[in-house]
Amino acid sequence: MGIVGSGPAGIYTADLLTKDDTLAAEDTQVSIDILDKLPSPYGLVRYGVAPDHPRIKQIQGALHKVLDKPQIRFLGNVEYGVDLKLDDLRRHYDAVVFATGSDRDRALDLPGAELPGCHGAADFVAWYDSHPDVTPEWRVNGTGVAVIGAGNVAVDVARILAKDAGDLLSTDITDNVHRDLAAKDVTDVHVFARRGIAHAKFTPMELRELDKQPGVEVVVYPEDFDIDDACVAEIESNNHAKTNVKVLQNWAMRDPKGLPRRLHLHFLHRPVEVLGADGVTGLRTERMELDGNGGVRGTGEFVDHDVQAVYRAIGYLGSPLADLPFDAERGVLPNDGGRVLDLDENAISGVYTTGWIKRGPVGLIGHTKGDALETVGNLVADRPGLAPAEEPEPEAFLRLLDERRVPYTTWEGWQRLEAHEATLGEPHGRARVKVLTRTEMTRVARGEDA
Ligand code: NAP
Repeated sequence: MGIVGSGPAGIYTADLLTKDDTLAAEDTQVSIDILDKLPSPYGLVRYGVAPDHPRIKQIQGALHKVLDKPQIRFLGNVEYGVDLKLDDLRRHYDAVVFATGSDRDRALDLPGAELPGCHGAADFVAWYDSHPDVTPEWRVNGTGVAVIGAGNVAVDVARILAKDAGDLLSTDITDNVHRDLAAKDVTDVHVFARRGIAHAKFTPMELRELDKQPGVEVVVYPEDFDIDDACVAEIESNNHAKTNVKVLQNWAMRDPKGLPRRLHLHFLHRPVEVLGADGVTGLRTERMELDGNGGVRGTGEFVDHDVQAVYRAIGYLGSPLADLPFDAERGVLPNDGGRVLDLDENAISGVYTTGWIKRGPVGLIGHTKGDALETVGNLVADRPGLAPAEEPEPEAFLRLLDERRVPYTTWEGWQRLEAHEATLGEPHGRARVKVLTRTEMTRVARGEDA
């Protein structure tokens, strides 16, 4: 089998394939290649989880155990659509599962959204996690910053923008990220939710964490706390909403602490325009009101906020994949239970998908396990009818990569790179310092001389 993408979605799929009862009962020797366009595995766990969330990053330990299984081979630096086409994968694997995730920001259709100083959260997150494809410099402009959206990504972005850079020194951030964050002058981060407090998407633990940042005061506005019957129904049926509302209401009753930085949470504010000529000078929002049916409507009252940068955290999107149909609106591969569908909505034999590229960018890392279960169940059920690979031998695929001069990295190579990053971190008392460029990552992983 071939799996494209070595984030949690791809790795959980590989794990389930090695443990599948039907395949075991048939005595089928499962052999899996997990391909990744980066030299390193783990996808968003390495390059998407915030550096100050080491507990979530620890998931790498469980993912490592799966990749360490003898039936699984990791091959990094192999980019589907560039180094390989679908026909190549079909020739070498009985079935292919695409687990390429969501790597782009959804566009924000607002006047002024193209101004310098408007950023997508995906780009910022990739930068502070030192993704090798992202420019190592980032200038955090101004003293006031807006973050649009009320999900966990917005909360991550707002927290990193408000936080003292020194408080990140114990994490795995690289020197360039620390330097640029230490240079920021941000005093006020404004998070804008277009709906009310009962419909925020962030989870209670992430919300509470905002209030635990040294030198940062969370500010909420009681006039944003409108609640109607639809909100009450939401609060009663959704534990996250219930806890979020309780936490926010408690914060609304506090006196100001006078801390040096503030993180404002605004609800019922819909962004309508980014203001500025050559760069961002403000964000205009419309006050919204509850419509009684669980939705919101505009009031016609507009507010201008003094900000010099705007970060949109309004959801991610997957990218199209060569030779496969794509649902551009949802940013996913059209599929039925993980079976990728062609334009006539017929399953494409032997081609599957899982994770965010299957169902969209919603849910925590653990939720991709359920996805993988469904996809693997369907793949195993289809297996008797799938055309077997023409060249299934593991060496044949490596020969193809060599012929195409793909400088692929291996599991052993990744462990070399991991050990190297740990050595870089050691003198500073840090678990690791990430290598910044693909070239250097590849060199270390392939054991080549500097
Ligand atoms: P999300 O949870 O879907 O939140 C997106 C937010 O953007 C929502 O508040 C949404 O508002 C808002 N939005 C969308 N379009 C908008 C527009 N045009 N104007 C204004 N606001 C707009 O997505 P996410 O934050 O990207 O997170 C993705 C998934 O990753 C989530 O399941 C999240 O929990 C998970 N995640 C978890 C962690 C963690 O555990 N620490 C960290 C990061 C991400 P509406 O609700 O009104 O549409």
